Amino acid sequence: MSVEQDQVQRADFDQVMVPNYAPAGFIPVRGAGSRVWDQTGRELIDFAGGIAVNVLGHAHPALVGALTEQANKLWHVSNVFTNEPALRLAKKLVDATFAERVFFCNSGAEANEASFKLARRVAHDRFGPEKYEIIATLNSFHGRTLFTVNVGGQSKYSDGFGPKISGITHVPYNDLEALKAAISDKTCAVVIEPIQGEGGVLPAELAYLQGARELCDAHNALLVFDEVQTGMGRSGELFAYMHYGVVPDILSSAKSLGGGFPIGAMLTTEALAKHLVVGTHGTTYGGNPLACAVGEAVIDVINTPKVLAGVKAKHDRFKARLEQIGQQYGLYSEVRGLGLLIGCVLNDNWKGKAKDIFNAAEQEGLMILQAGPDVVRFAPSLVIEDADIDAGLDRFERAVAKLAQA
Ligand SMILES: *Cc1c(COP(=O)(O)O)cnc(C)c1O
Repeated sequence: MSVEQDQVQRADFDQVMVPNYAPAGFIPVRGAGSRVWDQTGRELIDFAGGIAVNVLGHAHPALVGALTEQANKLWHVSNVFTNEPALRLAKKLVDATFAERVFFCNSGAEANEASFKLARRVAHDRFGPEKYEIIATLNSFHGRTLFTVNVGGQSKYSDGFGPKISGITHVPYNDLEALKAAISDKTCAVVIEPIQGEGGVLPAELAYLQGARELCDAHNALLVFDEVQTGMGRSGELFAYMHYGVVPDILSSAKSLGGGFPIGAMLTTEALAKHLVVGTHGTTYGGNPLACAVGEAVIDVINTPKVLAGVKAKHDRFKARLEQIGQQYGLYSEVRGLGLLIGCVLNDNWKGKAKDIFNAAEQEGLMILQAGPDVVRFAPSLVIEDADIDAGLDRFERAVAKLAQA
């Protein structure tokens, strides 16, 4: 151990951390709204939002207030006891959605794990042990536990970890005919992201989701929407299913739900929830008072006509300027997404260069995201100031201009 333990640098990452991440070269130390400062005092504009998590930016007073108030009261009691913030947040989610029951956990993967286990348990109870097949989509992402990487449609995440979980099929996204051909009376669930996030910010077509709903009903299968990335206002509606008007049986939420504090939730109906009887599933931290207190503050702020309308207006502001930059530099084939989940699909000239654009943006003081090698992704705070959008896009344009010159 080093003597100067307090003075950590980016280089320490490679000495003490498991190398499964490759973080950028600077270390953020402080944030306010959509601005972030690193160890050297350099200021950056945040269009990444901690990967669609910091839904109210950094250090939002409502979230800081809720967290500190709860921190002085009660941190944790486990599920041997219930607690007030968990019950209040569950009520708010039930009031605001199709759901009648909520299961809390700590991440998106755990919310999906609960969703998939519930779907299999319901089918087992109602129709017997043969009905356990799950249909998911190619290129989808559902988390990194063993079950969720197997349901996810990217073999790079599921290969090399021993035998795969059986009974999972993948079909092309937005291809209703393929889903129709794959579904059978052995199918217990169809799992869809209303917008494929990690897979490239690819929105579902309305007819696809409607068709999936009908196919599920015809085959006694449950429709599961993974809204870990698209939920909590990101799309301009509280959940993206509301944008489409297609209601799932089970919905998973996380990321923005906690605005930066770890929390996940599975939402479902009373009729399905009752299959998870006492002892069938659980997690020590699920419904943690700190996480739920923050979640309450998030939904209180987000689920208002003003904030949701603001998301749509900010989408238009982003899109107009991004399209103009794209045209000027011949960057992309398409700007797509809903609300403040926006993807710029790089054209043939720029294919594979999303990482270079990420690096160039960082050099200009802008944090962005990729969604694979060919898509530049933006997932900023839902209450980002218009001035920050404009200043950030100025920096983005400078980054792109430099790359185009080189
Ligand atoms: C991020 C994400 C997950 C995984 O969430 P974690 O909190 O990282 O476990 C699952 N599904 C989707 C759609 C996601 O974007």
